[in-house]
Amino acid sequence: MQIGCHVSISGSIDRAVDNALERECSAFQIFTRNPRGWHAKELTKTDIAIFKSKLAASGIDRLAICAHMPYLPNLATPKEDGFAKSLKTLIDETHRCAHLGIPYLVTHLGSHLGTGDEAGIKRLVRGLSEAGRIKNDVMILLENTAGQKNSVGSDFEQLGEIFAQLGPAEKFGVCLDTCHAFVSGYDLRTEEKVEEAFAEFDRYVGIKNLKIIHLNDARGGLGCNLDRHYHLGLGEIGEEGISAVVKFANRKKIPVILETPIDDERDDFANIRKAKELA
Ligand code: ZN
Ligand code: MN
Ligand code: MN
Repeated sequence: MQIGCHVSISGSIDRAVDNALERECSAFQIFTRNPRGWHAKELTKTDIAIFKSKLAASGIDRLAICAHMPYLPNLATPKEDGFAKSLKTLIDETHRCAHLGIPYLVTHLGSHLGTGDEAGIKRLVRGLSEAGRIKNDVMILLENTAGQKNSVGSDFEQLGEIFAQLGPAEKFGVCLDTCHAFVSGYDLRTEEKVEEAFAEFDRYVGIKNLKIIHLNDARGGLGCNLDRHYHLGLGEIGEEGISAVVKFANRKKIPVILETPIDDERDDFANIRKAKELA
C-alpha cells in the first residue's frame, strides 16, 4: 500500500521528506515552490542534493511521489500572455521535477473563460503537447476537474478525448481526484458505484494511465461542482465509498495521496490513519 498526503516544503524543500515520514506516508505530493504566485525561486544544487539524499534514505518509493502545478497557470485561457506564462511555468515545473527526481507532475486542465470547450481544449492540447516535447523523464498527469463553470476535463469521456490527443505516450498520464469526480456527478458512495465509476474511467481514459489517486472526501453533494475537499469518511462520499477506492488503488498498485483539510476536527495524521484503517 502506498499512501500519503500533500506535504509542506516550508523552510526548505527537503523538509517535505521529513514531513512525509512524520505522517507515516509511503507516498507524498509537494508544490516545488509557492503555489500562489508566478515567481519561483531557483532550486540550488544543494537544495536538490539534500532533497534527493533524504528521499533515498526515507525508503519511500520514488514512483509514489509527485509534484502539483501552482494554481495560477491556465492552459485553456484565450489570453495570449496568460497562455504563454502558463506554458512557461509548466515547462519550468517539469525541469524542476526532473532535477528533484520526481517522476510525476499533476496539472489542472484550466478554464476556457467562456470561449467554449472546443476552443479551450484546442489551446490546452497545444500547450500540453509543447511541454510533452521537452526531453526529460517527467510525466505530466492530467487531473480531472470538479466541473466548475468554464472548466474542461471533468467528465471522463472528455478527459479521454483530451488525453488521446497527447503524445508521446510516456510523457502523459492521469490523476483522478475522488472529490472532483464525485461533485462532477460520479457516484462513489458504495463499492458497486466505485466499481462502475472506475469501469467508465477505464473505458474512456484507461486504468493503465492512472498514476496517482487524490483521495478526498467531498463537502458538497453528488454533482454539485463544488471543489471543497473534506475529511475521509465524514463527507458526502462516506466511509464505504472511500474504503472501496482505497482497496481498488491497492489492488492496482496506484499511490494514494490525500489533500484533505487541517482543522479542529482532524489533521493529516488522523486522515492518513483513517485511510489505512479503511484499506
Ligand atoms: Zn489538483
Ligand atoms: Mn486534487
Ligand atoms: Mn480540488
